[in-house]
Amino acid sequence: MIFPFYLENFEKIDRVGKIFKEHLTGCGLCPRRCGVDRTKESGFCLQRDVPRISNVVLHYGEEPPLVEKNGAGAVFFCGCNMRCVYCQNFAFSQKNIGKNISVEELADYFLKLQELDATCLDLVTPTPHLPFIVEALGIAITKGFKLPIVYNTSSYESVEVLNLLDGIVDVYLADLKYSDDEVALRLSGVKDYWEVATAALREMYRQVGAFKRYASGVFRGLIVRHLVLPGDLSGSEKVARFIAEELSTSVPVAVMGQYNPVNRAREYPEIARRLSKQEYERVLDVFQSYDLVEGWYQLEDGEPVRAVGVKLAD
Ligand code: SF4
Repeated sequence: MIFPFYLENFEKIDRVGKIFKEHLTGCGLCPRRCGVDRTKESGFCLQRDVPRISNVVLHYGEEPPLVEKNGAGAVFFCGCNMRCVYCQNFAFSQKNIGKNISVEELADYFLKLQELDATCLDLVTPTPHLPFIVEALGIAITKGFKLPIVYNTSSYESVEVLNLLDGIVDVYLADLKYSDDEVALRLSGVKDYWEVATAALREMYRQVGAFKRYASGVFRGLIVRHLVLPGDLSGSEKVARFIAEELSTSVPVAVMGQYNPVNRAREYPEIARRLSKQEYERVLDVFQSYDLVEGWYQLEDGEPVRAVGVKLAD
């Protein structure tokens, strides 16, 4: 296996980059399909025709195989195509606080993260920035860049756009937030989350399969993240059933219990509190009842509630 994926598909980067750039004058990079000319105005995600970032860091909070010794090399992009009322990154995802940089500077950040020995390039909420990311990747590769790419997404993605990333992205780190569209609309401003996100996850799984880490250090595949909301608003059983029955029980799942009512969450009584331990444990039982036993569960007081981990593949 050639690792990272894009070194096997270098010729694709230029071609795909040109397609993504066409969206800057009529954007349909995500299912919002705003159609705006981003050289003149911004669409729903607030992004224009230059990369805009909040931060570039070695990030130790991602799933363990993406962190290892030196952390995931995270680039936090501004903007988002969702409006989660509880978003902990709202300063840059919704208020667009950050700085504009050039594509060349973005490529330099990629190279800097490699110099710092990051485990991967962790692109956080990348979709509105795809025209710049792919161009920067092409520049960085000519200067020796070879970190694997992690696409860190809400999964509110278009299959057509994901399909263009086939052979470029090594790891999809993808949320499946809700199974009830009414809840998704109320809490995240998205009316068709379930249909769009499940189609996106099927495409991600088709491309890379379930996440595997090989003894050689090579890794690739899909990891699904599920944030558990109070009062079962995440619709966890339907989420677990979808992963188990329509993807695979081999897909590692990060069941996240760290919900905190930040941003505008206190305006919504049903989520204006933290998750209880019992609620979280109930969701773990549901995932286990569907044989979803690979992945990561919440740490409590420094100890795993239920310790599991992704097995090394041969
Ligand atoms: S990436 Fe932004 S501008 Fe483009 S379709 Fe999505 S929300 Fe609209």
